[in-house]
Amino acid sequence: MTETIEHQGPTTFDGRDGRLDRFDRALRDLRISVTDRCNFRCPYCMPKEVFGRDYAFLPRAEILTFEEIRRLAGIFVGLGVRKLRVTGGEPLVRHDLPDLVAMLAPLRTPDGQPVDIALTTNGSALRRLARPLADAGLRRITVSLDSLDDDTFRRMNGVDYPVARVLDGIAAAREAGLTPVKVNVVLRRGLNESSVLSLAAWARAEGHVLRFIEYMDVGTTNGWRLDDVVPAAEVVATIDAAWPIEPLEPGYRGEVAERWRYRDGRGELGIIASVTRPFCGDCTRARLSAEGKLYTCLFSASGHDLRELLRAGATDDELTSRIGAIWTVRADRYSELRAQATDRLPKVEMFALGG
Ligand code: SAM
Ligand code: SF4
Ligand code: SF4
Repeated sequence: MTETIEHQGPTTFDGRDGRLDRFDRALRDLRISVTDRCNFRCPYCMPKEVFGRDYAFLPRAEILTFEEIRRLAGIFVGLGVRKLRVTGGEPLVRHDLPDLVAMLAPLRTPDGQPVDIALTTNGSALRRLARPLADAGLRRITVSLDSLDDDTFRRMNGVDYPVARVLDGIAAAREAGLTPVKVNVVLRRGLNESSVLSLAAWARAEGHVLRFIEYMDVGTTNGWRLDDVVPAAEVVATIDAAWPIEPLEPGYRGEVAERWRYRDGRGELGIIASVTRPFCGDCTRARLSAEGKLYTCLFSASGHDLRELLRAGATDDELTSRIGAIWTVRADRYSELRAQATDRLPKVEMFALGG
């Protein structure tokens, strides 16, 4: 790190803690959206009424190339990032994605540790791609699956996609050694809350780690209402009544999922209570959109254009200074402020900035 960087912001930087923002949160995780496109139309993310045939997705030239993503990822790692999560949109609709994973896999933190590389997917292309992704160096995968019931699942993905094909994708991930597979479930009142116990039983039997996510008011198109959220406490009580569970200590600062284990020793699960128990105080996460904008919060109204700098020929030092400076003045805590009626503020869609 250069002198310039150390003295740029009002807060501190040191090699161990990385760049700190205004609330002393280090920059640790980067979610990289590789596309704004998706083959699903989950109503809570890309409702089909809004994202129809005529919707203008980003043209190819506006999307970061793999080389540009790799270069930025390296700079983020230099600033303290230890975890990269490839996401979207649906990351597996981006051609040759295993090539990107192969380019990211050799990255090392300043103290020589391998960077943790994960991927979040709707699972529809995993039968074809799980093995190439694992061969490219991917070690961890999260698959979104909102119900085991075929009718409910077809409704929740908005394109009538059969659940059996995602289950087969999850099996392919396991066969490729991407274990344990994490499975994300977004619960919506009246739609799939009745799937909690069947999903939990299945995940316990199969050795997958289930993570229940509270439905969030991301973006502006999903018509979110607090009444549609199934609170984390309710999910915990439902599961505890069937198979007693107990809380686990967080694995690290900034872990968004509250971890629970089954008292009978048969597995664990995570609860992401972003609405009822916000975790902004420990949020160490930045997001890079497919078009190269940096967002410091999932609920940001606007991003910082890094593509323009990249394509104007900025040096690594210049990019490092810019990103470090953006993080240093970060003061986001949207979920903590949600209760104070900030949910009317403009926001960017989740699929666009990397959910
Ligand atoms: N397409 C991939 C997938 O669905 O896994 C990756 C991108 S998706 C935006 C990332 C995660 O965000 C998924 O697990 C999805 O269920 C979750 N998500 C999308 N909209 C959400 C919302 N309104 N509230 C909570 N989680 C949401
Ligand atoms: Fe696509 Fe994922 Fe959004 Fe569903 S949650 S519409 S699969 S990006
Ligand atoms: Fe982080 Fe923003 Fe979510 Fe708070 S609301 S946890 S700051 S992404």
